[in-house]
Amino acid sequence: MMTRTAHPVAAAAALLDQPEVLLVGDAADVHAATNGLEQVDPDSFVTDRQRRRLEQRLARDPVAIEPELAGDPGAIEAEAVGDPGANEPETVGAVCLDATGVLAAATSTGGLTGQRRGRVGDSPLIGAGTWADRRVAVSCTGQGEAFIRAGAARLVAALVEQGHTLESAGHKALAAVAECGGSGGLIAVDVHGNVTTPLSTAAMPRGVWRAGEKPISTVP
Ligand code: ASP
Repeated sequence: MMTRTAHPVAAAAALLDQPEVLLVGDAADVHAATNGLEQVDPDSFVTDRQRRRLEQRLARDPVAIEPELAGDPGAIEAEAVGDPGANEPETVGAVCLDATGVLAAATSTGGLTGQRRGRVGDSPLIGAGTWADRRVAVSCTGQGEAFIRAGAARLVAALVEQGHTLESAGHKALAAVAECGGSGGLIAVDVHGNVTTPLSTAAMPRGVWRAGEKPISTVP
């Protein structure tokens, strides 16, 4: 988890020419800073809306606030034992096919509201919430634990490899997520420029922008 880097996806991009695939914690922020990426006060990521959501969550669900945060009205982290499904996801994902046929995917998230300290969701895990190879790029959102158990993003790619259409692969991957007890959505593009954006939740604002065309957005 990064806490000071303003643009985490830029930090991930700055890792592409390194031998490592995944950096976490302070070392990831140091990596970003070393690459000239903007560092900010961690409090600047806290929005009034998110704070309100956490307060509502704390009022609704049984939680054990971490001792050092108890009594601190500014505390935004808590140990939650409630249902992560009550969360309204805030993840932002992007998938891209460039003019040379290269595919890329990125997923940036603050995780689930009220999540347990130390929890890692699917978004940063390659193969779970994010995947790109020579055939397909995928970014997921939803209840991360189910996406991790289903290996959802890589599953889309595997199904495409096996001959499924991108659309069918997306639906099958969400069905696998449902079997693992979760819901959510994903966006995917393949090397032919096909796009699919299936969801098993009430809403997932999304858009498609093809070169030379007007962007199209869909809500929910
Ligand atoms: N998938 C993310 C997680 O579980 C949450 C989200 O999509 O907003 O951390």
